[in-house]
Formats: sequence, C-alpha cells, structure tokens
Amino acid sequence: MKVIIGAFAHESNDFCPKKTTRDMFEFYEGQDVISHLPVGDIFSNAGIEIIPAIYADAQSFGPVEEQTYLYFENKILEVVRANPDADGIWMFCHGAMNVENIGSGEYRLACDMRKIVGENCVISFGMDLHGNIEADFANQVNIFRCYHTAPHTDQVDTYRRTAQALVYYLQNGYKTHCQMRKIPMIFPGEMAATTVDPFKEIIRVIKKMEDEDPKVLCASVFIGFAWTDAARTSSTVVIVPSAPEYEEYCSQKTEALAEFVFSKRTEFDFEMLSLPPEETAVVSLYELESPVCVTDMGDNPTAGTTGGSNVLLKEYLKIDDKDKKVLIVGIFDKKAFGVCQTHKVGDTFDLTIGMDIDDVTRPMLVTATYKGSHDVLGYTIPTTPPIKRCEGATISIGNIDVVITDKAYAFTQEVNFRSCELDPGMYDVFVTKFGYIFPELKKMGKSFIMSNTPGESYQMITSFDYKKIKRPIYPIDKI
Ligand SMILES: [Zn+2]
Repeated sequence: MKVIIGAFAHESNDFCPKKTTRDMFEFYEGQDVISHLPVGDIFSNAGIEIIPAIYADAQSFGPVEEQTYLYFENKILEVVRANPDADGIWMFCHGAMNVENIGSGEYRLACDMRKIVGENCVISFGMDLHGNIEADFANQVNIFRCYHTAPHTDQVDTYRRTAQALVYYLQNGYKTHCQMRKIPMIFPGEMAATTVDPFKEIIRVIKKMEDEDPKVLCASVFIGFAWTDAARTSSTVVIVPSAPEYEEYCSQKTEALAEFVFSKRTEFDFEMLSLPPEETAVVSLYELESPVCVTDMGDNPTAGTTGGSNVLLKEYLKIDDKDKKVLIVGIFDKKAFGVCQTHKVGDTFDLTIGMDIDDVTRPMLVTATYKGSHDVLGYTIPTTPPIKRCEGATISIGNIDVVITDKAYAFTQEVNFRSCELDPGMYDVFVTKFGYIFPELKKMGKSFIMSNTPGESYQMITSFDYKKIKRPIYPIDKI
C-alpha cells in the first residue's frame, strides 16, 4: 500500500490590507516533507510506502494570491497524478485558507485530488479548529479532525490521530465519509479558549466520545475563523465513524453535538480581563500585580494582521510615568528597523514608527536610544527546535523599551524574549501582539489583560462590515 503525505496550510484574514504571496511560505519538497511532519513512522510501521507531496506553511495574513495557491496546488497534484493508484492521502491543511477568486483552498484541493484518485482512495486531513469548513467538504474527504486545544498545544497529537485513522481505514478496507454539521455561530478565537467553559466542557464531551464510544473514531468542533468573510465562515462539528455500519449512528450523534454546541453560544467570553486600549494602560500600570502581561488582541499576527500597530505604544507614552518600566514586543516596521541598524548601541536619535498601511499603523515620531539587535528565535510546535523567526532591534523611549521587528511576529514563547536578551520579569508591564494568554505567557506574567485594541483582528466582530457571511449567524444576529 502507499500513501501520499503533505501539508499546505494558511489562515487568511480578509480584513488585512495585503495578500499572502509565495515567498511567505516555508516550503519543502521530497524527503524534507517527511521530516517536517510527525506522521512518517505511523505509515512505515504499518508497512505502507510514503510518497511525499509538499510542505508549505505560512503565517496567517491576508487572502492567498491566486497564483501562489495554484503554484503549490499544482505541485501537490503533480505528485497525485504520478500516483493515481495511491491507497491514501494524508494532509495537514489549516481550514481557513481563503484564496482570491477561488475561495476555500482546502476545499478546492480536496476536490481536485478526489477527481484524480477517485472514490477508492481514502483521504484524511489533520486541521486547525479555526477552520471554516465548506459544506460539501465531508463528501470529498473521508476523515478529518481538528485540534482539541486553543491556544493550540496538541498539533502533533492531531496529526498522528488522523494518520492513525487513515491506516485503520486502509487496513479494514473502509471508504466511509464522516458526518458534519455547520452551526450558525462564529467567535474570535480569544472568546473560545479551551481552558475555560463553555469550550472546555465541549471538548470534554468530544474527548469522551473518542475515548469511550467504540463507534466513534474522531470527533471535532471547529470554532471557525471570524476574520474570513465567506459563506462558509461559521463553526462546524464533525464525527468520523469507526466503521461503515456506524454512519447513521454518528449522523445522529453529530446532530446532537451541533445542538449542544449551539446551545452554549451565549456563554463564550474572554478567559481573562479584557479592556479597551486607554484603560489597559492605566489598569496595567497601577491596579494589577506586576509583571502584567498585556496582549494586543486587535493586532495579532498569528490571526493575519500586519503586526505593526503602535496603538498601545501611544497609550503608554501618554502616561509617561518614569517610575514604571514597560516592554512592548514587537512592532513590525522594516523601515524603522533599518534606521536602527545605521546606529551604534547607545545612540539617541529621532525615529518614526508606523508603516502607514492602515489606521493602527499611522506614523509617530519618538526619540529613541538604540540598545542592540538580535535574531528572534522561536518554535512552530514545541517538539521542534527554535529557529530564527525575524530580527528585532531594541530601543528605549524613556521608560518604555520597544522591540522593532523586520517581520510581523507574535512573541509568546520564553525563547522569543530570551533570544533578545529580555526578561519580562524585569518590567511592570510587557505587551505582546497576540490574542489569548498562551501557556508560556501565563508563566511569565503575574496578571493579565487581553487588550481590546483596534486592528484587523479586532474582537468586536459585530462591528465588521461582513459582505459574504451566511446570515443569520450568532452573535452578528441575535438568534
Ligand atoms: Zn488556530
């Protein structure tokens, strides 16, 4: 038997003013694909030959350029065409890839692969719970399951489970399709952390199904991705039967799960204190135990924003309290980063910060003292060693230290700070461009504010001018 494996992943933010292009993808072909996906041993231990397709993954950003999508999709389809007799295909796809003129990248890929391999090939996808799933997706793919954690900490487990499920189907000769229901609700990820109810409770329910119900192979609740404006933007539940005879049983289970999840809709909320920008600055400096970790939720590059917002920097400069130390990581501004590089450590100079590409990146002039530059190291999943993610120039503006980066990057890991020789514990407040409080941020801070800042990942989704989303949908409509 042989199985094609690969990854083609992107989370596309339609409110970001720029497109995602080919150079933004981390891309591998051949044997490198196998070494970048933690599933190879599952297939080889089962005596299944592995045919690598491609590995292409980019940080969340604006919609994917059509040509970029077609470039990577053709590379995958070339491998599929060369192996039309493949018994199975395993892919990691995010689920929220939106391609200009095409729509859902995952759906298009699944349909195009299916056309080549026909119904005899079993297709299995590992996905992110922020995927917006096309209604017909379950008719194209036999198995799919998403993460059970947000913030995500179970990526490897998800990939391995979907690979194991594929092997199980192949060994038993099953061609069953999974059961899926769309739910008319959508939340920003930060209002749906699995660390707090109601999502915590929902995960407990689906975990129990997977662990204790022999008729269920995998169960998923996709919360969806609120910043893609498409008809498919919504939450989705999926159950994969453990054998063809349980299809009807799983259909009923899926219906009941969809009703249960929808009944919880009014309970979704932020896991921590959430405040608008001005109050964030005041409360973080004077009312909470330090160090206070603040996340700039409206400009979260992992949700596809530009990463260049200076809104919170402006708020902290307004207060200008010499007794308080503030760290802001990292504001993306390639030009400002370049200016810093022309100076020596200790130089003080005028610096303009702000890329001027949207309302939250309007330029501001500061007097900066240059403290040095570093490679910012970080990992993609905790099992891989950290690699260089971007470069950061540290400057001081009075009592505020700021890391200006040459790329949009969210500091969420201790290694991100350490590689810049920064210790958040030395500050009263540290601000990072992220949404929820990632586990490592929880370790670094004593108090937390999820700042409800403006930007392309603004949390008040009811204020966005959606054009294509299917209505009615909660909470945009009060259903
Ligand atoms: Zn996600």
